[in-house]
Amino acid sequence: MLAFTAGRLLTPTVVVEHPLVLVEEGRVLEISPRSSWQVPAGVSVSDFGDGVMAPGYVDLHIHGSAGYDVMDDSTEALPAIERLLARHGVLSYFPTTVTAPMDTTLRALERLADAIEKREREQPHERKNADGKIRAVPLGIHLEGPFLSHARRGVHPPENLLAPKLSTFEQFWQAARGRIRMMTIAPELDGAPEVIAEAAQRGICVSLGHSDADFEAAERGIAAGARHATHTFNAMRPLDHRNPGILGAVLTDRRVSADIIADGVHLDPAIVKLVANAKGPEQTVLITDAISATGMPDGRYRLGPFEVDVRDGKCMAGGKLAGSVLTMDCAVRNLARFAEWNLQRAVAAASKNPARVARIARKGMLAVGADADFVVLSSEGEVLRTFVGGVECSR
Ligand SMILES: [Zn+2]
Repeated sequence: MLAFTAGRLLTPTVVVEHPLVLVEEGRVLEISPRSSWQVPAGVSVSDFGDGVMAPGYVDLHIHGSAGYDVMDDSTEALPAIERLLARHGVLSYFPTTVTAPMDTTLRALERLADAIEKREREQPHERKNADGKIRAVPLGIHLEGPFLSHARRGVHPPENLLAPKLSTFEQFWQAARGRIRMMTIAPELDGAPEVIAEAAQRGICVSLGHSDADFEAAERGIAAGARHATHTFNAMRPLDHRNPGILGAVLTDRRVSADIIADGVHLDPAIVKLVANAKGPEQTVLITDAISATGMPDGRYRLGPFEVDVRDGKCMAGGKLAGSVLTMDCAVRNLARFAEWNLQRAVAAASKNPARVARIARKGMLAVGADADFVVLSSEGEVLRTFVGGVECSR
């Protein structure tokens, strides 16, 4: 049995001052105020001083990091990305595809399914590399495209966008061996409601995005089973006070949660605050939408099949924003600042909320029975230490 104490713990729904956390076989056995519990005999307690224990972060939208893209056909790619993610507090993630030629996407889905299955089979002690460095775990695939709007495609290549069709969706599903857990789709496209309904039925988190939908089309997508919105405001028909469009639906419909890229580039801080206020502390989700350039110097990088110029924290392709170089720990600090939220709420938007939205069990919460995957933060939200299954990992 392992025991930990710290200044504070964020479950993150509840704040526990001076917590005592007991961990057995990689799971949380007990969380209580230290004063009300005796440490079992023979168990030594790791003390994080005034540090803040918080659940490991969950990133539902990430294309790459550390010079690699999740669609790369390279055995180096995912481990490099996963090490960088873990350094920034992300311990679970959904590798996210971009729109590409059909055969490229199918091959990438097969490789990602292989990687996910391989990590599922590994024992806890194998979660570190030979060098002792921890890696985030891919839990499912986010399919971003090809069922996107030509009018709001962002940098997704127009020649590879497809109309939603059940037969095409089935091809992706088969290639990914059912590992698709999230799908971004424009609900106004012909055939979208049928594909949304089928995907939702298979347990996929269907997310509205890259969309020029009016209010009614967005609501039809929600009625069909969509429950989330992808990088809200970015690659969406703008909000108009007499023609509210998809944003009017996403911001007001209580069935829908919404994710944002809080890097200060994709959204003005005031818009981050607007989304946070509209969706509230339980339905606001942070994503990074990070690309291969994350954690690397400025220069030219790839996003799926195309090239992106990265300068001063901005990723541009053909005059459009193309993903980010944001890390999740920074997103948490930005959300707290932009929305005037405390650290607890901002942490929830990177942990509990994404885990719930994507129906990921035992992650994103520090609660009895959950995996003991946690970070120790400074009071400003910097990641100081990382633990997986209660075991410390070098970063
Ligand atoms: Zn996108």
